[in-house]
Amino acid sequence: MNKPVIHHSALDFGLHEFEFHLDNDFFKDFDYDDFLNCSIDVAVTLQKEETLMTVTMNCNGFVVTQCDRCLSDLQLNVNTSDSFIVKFEEGDNEEENIMYISDDESIDLSQSLFDLIIMSLPVRKVHPDDENGNSTCAPEQLMFLEQYKKHDTIDPRWEALMNLKEE
Ligand SMILES: [Zn+2]
Repeated sequence: MNKPVIHHSALDFGLHEFEFHLDNDFFKDFDYDDFLNCSIDVAVTLQKEETLMTVTMNCNGFVVTQCDRCLSDLQLNVNTSDSFIVKFEEGDNEEENIMYISDDESIDLSQSLFDLIIMSLPVRKVHPDDENGNSTCAPEQLMFLEQYKKHDTIDPRWEALMNLKEE
C-alpha cells in the first residue's frame, strides 16, 4: 500500500494524476476493523493553479465485511468519487470541501478517503435479494442464528464458525 499523500510543492501548474491502492492496513490506521478484506484503487487528479488546487478522488474496488443478518462474508463494491479545493492560506479546516495548507505542506488524502469510502457504504449491510425476492443470505448461517436466538445456547458448529471469525 502506498500512503495517499501528494507532495505538490515541486509540481508545475496544470493537471496531474496520481494512483494509490488501499488495503486493510489503511483502515487499521484508523482503528477501523469492520473489513475482513478490501482492495480499493484510487485515481486522483490534481489541478494546480497559482492560489489553489482542485483535487478529485475516484475510488473503485471492494470491501468484504460481515452481513448484518447472517453474519457471513459480504462483499460490497466501492465506486465513489468526490472533490475538494486546496487553498494556500490559513482557514477553518472544518469547512466542507476546502482544505487549507501552507505552501510547502503535503496533501494527505487519508482522512478524506476514509470518510468518502465509509460514507459510500450502506448503513445496513446485508446480502441483496435475488431476482425472485429471496434473500441470498447463507441459509445454514441463518439456521444457526435462529437456533441461538430460540435456545440461547450455541450450536457447537456455530461456535466454531464464530471462533473462526474472531481469528
Ligand atoms: Zn447475509
